Amino acid sequence: MFESLSDRLAGALKDLRGKGRLSPADIDSTAREIRLALLEADVALPVVRGFVAKVKERAKGAEVSAALNPAQQVVKIVNEELITILGGETRRLRLAKNPPTVIMLAGLQGAGKTTLAGKLAKYLKGQGHTPLLVACDLQRPGAVTQLQVVGERAGVPVFAPHPGTSIGGGENPLGVSASDPVDVARAGIEEAKAKQYDVVIVDTAGRLGIDEELMRQAAGIRDAVNPDETLFVLDAMIGQDAVSTAQAFRDGVGFTGVVLTKLDGDARGGAALSVREITGQPILFASTGEKLEDFDVFHPDRMASRILG
Ligand code: GDP
Repeated sequence: MFESLSDRLAGALKDLRGKGRLSPADIDSTAREIRLALLEADVALPVVRGFVAKVKERAKGAEVSAALNPAQQVVKIVNEELITILGGETRRLRLAKNPPTVIMLAGLQGAGKTTLAGKLAKYLKGQGHTPLLVACDLQRPGAVTQLQVVGERAGVPVFAPHPGTSIGGGENPLGVSASDPVDVARAGIEEAKAKQYDVVIVDTAGRLGIDEELMRQAAGIRDAVNPDETLFVLDAMIGQDAVSTAQAFRDGVGFTGVVLTKLDGDARGGAALSVREITGQPILFASTGEKLEDFDVFHPDRMASRILG
């Protein structure tokens, strides 16, 4: 991840080394190189434009400094602007004042939602919370079982319907159907309240592509559970499609934060660098592998340092 972007940026900035003063032509050619590096990494065009304009403007206005030579100054500006497009400050998960905190996961099929549900549950458990996982992906065969497996690994209980049964036992006291994800979501919240779980993580169904039915269902679950956080799970490997996917989820469901998955892959990094600016929502977590431990809070400054090498 980011390797070729890192190389390209390093190349662009290297040319400035040893220069005593930067001419407008130096800045223009460096800006051009940075622009190409970002475009090659699949960063969305409006994000590239804004980024390069900002770097150029700041580089031209940079004061002569005793501490930093011009090349170092440009590196510093690029670093700061990278941190800005990645979200600036680290944004922590918002917990409800009155538990349970409800976290809903949304995203395309294969984005890594179910895996993330387990990771988040384990992470929260490690912080002293008592999470409950709720299986609302009733579309994909095996999704409920998969959530049960990750729940078991994380040591966190899973609220899941048994196909063909009604939730709450034979008498169906909750009056809900096990085949309707909205009903399951609602019942999951009731279960958490009754048994005093303090965080509920709702896994929802995804599709291979955006469609209206997917959005309607996710919006229905959202309305039923009124989440404190809706996390859009984005596969960093999907490159250019990340922008339209993120926009579709923003408009169709709305979300309060992003989780980037598969950051361990060899994607060029465009999705990671574009999603914050395109959607206006912060990146909260990063997933870097298939194991439950491959997960961390997202820190814009650390990611920027990694990109700059
Ligand atoms: P869902 O359809 O959104 O629930 O996606 P899954 O959680 O089933 O994940 C789809 C596939 O991606 C599975 O094979 C996961 O093991 C894998 N996966 C999930 N997160 C990551 C990650 O951060 N890195 C890698 N390499 N694989 C991941």
